[in-house]
This record gives sequence, C-alpha cells and structure tokens, in this order.
Amino acid sequence: MAEYDAEVSDDPLYILRHSTAHVLAAAVTELFPGTKYAGGPPVENGFYYDFDLSRPLSEDDLQPIEKKMGEIIARGDRFEQKLLSHAEALRIFTELDQPYKLYWINQKASADELVSSYRTGDFLDLCRGPHVATTADIPAFKLMRVAGAYWLGDERYPQLSRVYGTAWFSPEELDEYLWALEEAEKRDHKRLGRDLKIFALDERAGAGQVLWLPNGATIRRELERWIVDEELARGYQHVETPVVAKLDLFRQSGHWERYHDSMYPVMRADSGEELELRPMNCPHHILVYESELRSYRDLPLRIAEIGNNYRWEKSGELMGMIRVRSFALNDAHIFCAPDQLDAEILSVIELARYFMETLGVTDYRYRLSVRDPDKAKYVGTDEQWGNAEAALINALEAIGETFELGVGDAAFYGPKIDFQVRDAHRREFTNNTVQVDFQLPERFGLEYVAADGSRQRPVMVHRGAFGAMERMVAYMIEHYAGAFPTWLAPLQVAVLPITDAHVAYAGTVAECLRRSRVRVEVDDRSERIGKKIAEAQARKVPYMAVVGGREAEAGTVQVRNRAGEQSTEPLQDFALRVAQEIAERRR
Ligand SMILES: [Zn+2]
Ligand SMILES: [Zn+2]
Repeated sequence: MAEYDAEVSDDPLYILRHSTAHVLAAAVTELFPGTKYAGGPPVENGFYYDFDLSRPLSEDDLQPIEKKMGEIIARGDRFEQKLLSHAEALRIFTELDQPYKLYWINQKASADELVSSYRTGDFLDLCRGPHVATTADIPAFKLMRVAGAYWLGDERYPQLSRVYGTAWFSPEELDEYLWALEEAEKRDHKRLGRDLKIFALDERAGAGQVLWLPNGATIRRELERWIVDEELARGYQHVETPVVAKLDLFRQSGHWERYHDSMYPVMRADSGEELELRPMNCPHHILVYESELRSYRDLPLRIAEIGNNYRWEKSGELMGMIRVRSFALNDAHIFCAPDQLDAEILSVIELARYFMETLGVTDYRYRLSVRDPDKAKYVGTDEQWGNAEAALINALEAIGETFELGVGDAAFYGPKIDFQVRDAHRREFTNNTVQVDFQLPERFGLEYVAADGSRQRPVMVHRGAFGAMERMVAYMIEHYAGAFPTWLAPLQVAVLPITDAHVAYAGTVAECLRRSRVRVEVDDRSERIGKKIAEAQARKVPYMAVVGGREAEAGTVQVRNRAGEQSTEPLQDFALRVAQEIAERRR
C-alpha cells in the first residue's frame, strides 16, 4: 500500500489490515472518480488511508464506502504484484494522475530500481506487499471515523481526508473489539474529565492548554505532595526554576539544534534578547548544579522539580489532557560519579515502580531505547553510548526484568529505559524514563572535585519517575473510570441528611471528618434522600454518610460505599477508618 517507506511486517493481522486498506482506497476511488490516494499504513488496532478529494469526506460517507468495500470483497479480486521499471512507474502513475504516488516513486526508488506495485481489480497502488491472496480473504472489517490529516504531517500542505478502519479474522473478534472500545469510550478522560469537573479546555486559552478545575487541582496537589515527600525521603532535593530561559541556554544544551521543531516560537525583546519557553528542565538543573563548586562528597546530587514544560505539539496531535502544549513534569537530574551510575539507575527504577504500584498501574513493559543507524542525529561517541547502554542493561538484569529494544527511540544525548504503559484504550505511551547522559556534562563543562583533589566530570541521569501530571491524571481517570482511590478523590465523604431536620447533625459529622483531614461536603438541599444518593454516586464519591434521627441520637452514621455496601458505624470509628485509608493511600 501506499506508505511506500512504511515498515513491512509478516504478522497475519498486519497483512489483513494492510490489505483492507487497499480495498478502502479502491472503494473510495470507485465512488469518487478523480480521488488522489496518498497513503496509509496499518496502525494499532486497525489501519487508515489518506485521500485528496474535491471535497473532504465526512462520517456520512463511511456507510456508502463500507458498502462498496463489501462489493469489492465479494468480487474476490486477486492481489497481483506488478514490477515496473522506474520510468514505467512514473508514466503509469502520471496517467492515473496520482501525484502522491509520484512523490514516493521519486523519493524512494532510484532510476535503475524496479518499483513494486499491486493491482486489485482496476485499482493500482504502489506497494511492496505482502497481502492476503484475494479481497475475499477479508472476513470482518469496519470503518471507524474520518479525520483531517496533513500530507507528510506537515501543516504547510493542504489537508487530506483520513479514513480509519479496523479489520479482524472473524466477525466475533470484530464485535469483541467494538465492545471493548465502547467500554473504553465510557471511561474516556475527556468525557469523564468534563462530567466530574476535573479539567477544562478553552480555545481562548490556546489549544492544548489545560485548565485544572478545583477537583482536578485537588487530585494534582495530593499527587504532588506525595511525590515531593517521597523524593525528599529518598535523598532528592527539590528546586523551583523558571519556565523561560535565554535561547542561548538551549543552544548550549543542544535542544535548540536537535529539538527546535517541538519548541515554542522564540520571544524577541526590543533589547535584542531572545527568550524561549523551556521544553525540558535539564538546562536549568545544570545551572543549579553549577551554582556552587561541587565535591565528590556532594554526589550523587539529585535535583528534582515538578516543573512546567512547553512543547509545540502539532495541532492535529493534541488530545485532551494526554497530548498538550504545557505540562507539569515530575523531573529530576542526578549528577553522579561514574561508579555510582548503576546504583542510581536501580534506585530510579525502584522509585518509578513504587509510584506505579501505588497508583495501580500494572500494564506496562520496559523498553531499552537506543540509537538508529543514522548517528548524525545524536551527539557523543560510540564508546559513551556503549557505556550508557551497558549501565541500563545491567540495571534491568539486576531486577530480573525482560525488555524490548526500541531502535531509534533514544534521546539525542543518550539511551534510556522507557516504561511503556498501556491505557484503557490499549494505547501505549512512555510514562517514565531513565536516561544516561555523558553529553550535557561535557557541553556545560561540569566538574566536581574528586577525593584526590583532581577535577572530574560527573555523569548525568535524566529521570521521570512519575511522568507528566496531565497525562497521568488522564490515565487514572480512565483506569479508575473516574472512581479515584479515596486519598485522591476530590470529595471523600458526602454527608447526606435525610430531611432538613437532620442538617444540624450532618454539620457535626462533617466537622468531625474535617478535623481528621477528610474532604467532606454536606448536601443540605431540601431534596429527597434518594436523589442525593444518586447524585453522590454519579460524582463517584467514595463514601456517603447518611444521617437521620436515629443516627443523631446514637452518634452514628449510615455508611454507603461506592460498591453499594452499607453499615452503621459510630461517627468516631468511621472518621478514623477513612483517615487511615487516606494516610495509607489504599487503592
Ligand atoms: Zn499493499
Ligand atoms: Zn533532562
């Protein structure tokens, strides 16, 4: 299929989805003569294909396209390979008026090379294969949605219509997938984040700029307190540094050179000074390191911050709280002597595992991210890269974990271990990383005074043990379907007086809980108790304390938890129990 430079895989599901994408393109060109088909690879759980038509496609077009695809599948067209000479390929795709294909032919094949194409019925596409034998070998598929996408992901080009679909080996598998998707949709953090008043997005604040509402800010504050306390206990020192710096700082660090596509536009003052919003904390933490002369006794120096960072993500890639343009990162930089490196990497992995275990994140794997063969994209010598990779592998072997290799996923300054977490939508993302860096200490000429009085260069470890607040909270909204563990729940206990006569006692109950540092609210509206309970349930409040005459007299509360379990408890016992659950951060 079209993405001529896409990876080729022999995974049967990949081949099925890839073949279905051909059928999609064939259907669209049959239905809309003159369509220019650009390309599209299989993606996680499905495939897509990009089209350039006289009008953009909409959701209404999906059904007719599916119908046409069904016809093509019923026809059982064979996937026939045709090897063309370069000149022939250019001539044929010029005749077909397919400029995007011509781009790939020119881009990917040299003049003396044969160009592989595949025909199904009247539809011809540039492709290396492999495919299923005939279109009849596609047992189950469905088109999912339409989106806009730029050619080559570049906003300077016109927008194409991207059609997403999925394909499976049986109708049962397709149904199961659609069901799981529906379930995940109910957990969607954008929907729940709005319903539970956790965050808001407002175009006036700019795309990808998250407004943390009081409920979200409470969750975030709890997380931050916990993270900072835990890190202090583990020998980190927390700092606060500014979110802007002179552009020269990022020139020196290499971020500007290697990373400027993802950085905000530069601010130029009248004085000629150039300032830039930081994409990462590293340079600032280096300045903290340099704020005094360091000795071997200072090492390892672990400098941490929950700092805001700014990255100019492409507008098409922004998504809720998951892909944003400003985010708060739990970041730290460890400056250590080379012989301290292994122990530091281990302790970072341990900390990340502790954070994730407490939050209930269990679906993750380790990826060792190394360079791809295009070494020009990276800084540093082969020896430094070799040493850094060895240190990371040692750590993974020491904890007895298996890992996958991510070729080309390294940072520009060094290899890293990534914790690849899978969310409720079965999307995978990098949450935590440990990166070994010999480069930045060199670029900044960092030193420490060794025991023998000589000047030595420290090694730097970049680490995120928790990830970004935005992404992690989005993850947890979906993971818990909005029902946060008690310690994180914005409202922990809702006190519900049965009638207006019981409001005074409800106040006493609330006061007692508040003194135990429990977040509590009294629902003193003149509403039926059934309605109050239903609303507290919708808000996913961990506990309801229902109080009436009997409770007021006995000094008790009728407790209902989210699972609907009920018990009557003395007020003091209940307050103590909840406070303990919070203190232990129980899930
Ligand atoms: Zn193909
Ligand atoms: Zn860093």
